[in-house]
Amino acid sequence: MQIDLSVVIPIYNEQASLEKLFERLYPALDALGLAYEIIFINDGSRDRSAAILADQFRLRPDVTRVVLFNGNYGQHMAILAGFAETRGEITVTLDADLQNPPEEIGNLVAKMREGYDYVGSIRRDRQDAAWRTYASRAMNRLRERITRIHMTDQGNMLRAYGRNVIDLINQCSEVNTFVPALAYTFARNPTEIVVAHEERLAGESKYSLYSLIRLNFDLVTGFSLVPLQFFSILGIALSLLSAGLFFLLLLRRLLFGAEVEGVFTLFAISFFLMGVILFGIGLVGEYVGRIYEQVRGRPRFVVQTILQQERAAGPGMQSVPHASQAANRGAEH
Ligand code: UDP
Ligand code: MG
Repeated sequence: MQIDLSVVIPIYNEQASLEKLFERLYPALDALGLAYEIIFINDGSRDRSAAILADQFRLRPDVTRVVLFNGNYGQHMAILAGFAETRGEITVTLDADLQNPPEEIGNLVAKMREGYDYVGSIRRDRQDAAWRTYASRAMNRLRERITRIHMTDQGNMLRAYGRNVIDLINQCSEVNTFVPALAYTFARNPTEIVVAHEERLAGESKYSLYSLIRLNFDLVTGFSLVPLQFFSILGIALSLLSAGLFFLLLLRRLLFGAEVEGVFTLFAISFFLMGVILFGIGLVGEYVGRIYEQVRGRPRFVVQTILQQERAAGPGMQSVPHASQAANRGAEH
């Protein structure tokens, strides 16, 4: 059967939101009149999420598939595992906490049908804390200039991707990535729409300020060499300046003899340079760390089980719920 729309939702400790999510998601998708599937990925939740998802699978096995990880691999790995399973022409990603209203999926699909292969979304009056809105806006601007990836609202997962984009992402084996940015690099014709945004329904945000900073660092170092190149140029400029200073001091030594004034200025200069050097080492370390993770080549995630109906060869599906064993699936990526 041809599937028009795949909806991919990562789940980590969302037992409090899941029922509400189902209540809104299924009717919203049924109303679209498309052949759809929903792929939930349980990212090693420690609460009852997995059991709730299994129940939901039994309720709607025709359109529900559940990928169960054996541990917590992070939101983006969960989404990638979902992508590997998608069959739809269009894939939409969504957060489970109802910050992304499921009713907006129809608008994303409509936009995709206009001929785009990537539809991002911008949250209309964001309901996040003010500092988060401000911080992410500032980081956005800097990142956009460095990476040339245009995402007005990067913290928002409500996005639609075309089959071509998903197929290319499925060929990537990046260990540490940010799905919307990766997708953007493959999109031929990307666009954005404005969507509604709500407060987190229940539970807590899994992201702290620290992880927000980390994410932005990963975004820059994961998608661009500009920081390294900038640093080389900075190195050249500083070397030239230091050389100038050296000759100036040498000249003064010859003209006026030994001088001791200005020692503290020299201290200031050398401390400044030390700071620059430390930052540079840290920056190189970021890239080395990425290489290290990549070279290790461990499975990016391990799928324990997938709850899904057996795929029928011909038209019409068998209605036997079936758990395919797929341990170590991640290794093939
Ligand atoms: N999530 C996940 N694995 C994690 C952390 C989060 O699958 O390790 C899921 C989570 O269940 C939710 C989505 O990713 O569906 C976004 O998480 P959250 O709402 O905590 O992030 P925020 O909205 O605060 O950026
Ligand atoms: Mg959220």
